Amino acid sequence: MCECKSLPDVTEIAWDDSPTFDDGFTMVGNRQDVELRRCEECGEYWQIDVGRGGLAIRVNEPESWSEFDDRPARMQNMIDFHGGLTEGTCAWAGCDRQPLRGMALCPHHAYPMLSWLSD
Ligand SMILES: [Zn+2]
Ligand SMILES: [Zn+2]
Repeated sequence: MCECKSLPDVTEIAWDDSPTFDDGFTMVGNRQDVELRRCEECGEYWQIDVGRGGLAIRVNEPESWSEFDDRPARMQNMIDFHGGLTEGTCAWAGCDRQPLRGMALCPHHAYPMLSWLSD
């Protein structure tokens, strides 16, 4: 049995005991540092970070994967990593979002590379 159904939509693959998405998966697309892989058993699609640990992100619409924006998933993972948000407002001038726990900045200003605000 594959694990797809029991895994969270964003799964860490950075650790030794985390799922690898190698055995039983077929690579069906790639761009930059990510691959789209399909589970041979259940047919689910996952975007996999290759070569640097990272994340596996469940892809519900593989036909439009070329336009798939993984930043919200990566951002949520980063927020979870910090233990969520905290009271107060971001130290960035004019920003009234809540900061990450233990930090002065909101997620968008702490991780601009993951932010979609400037699009
Ligand atoms: Zn599966
Ligand atoms: Zn901010």
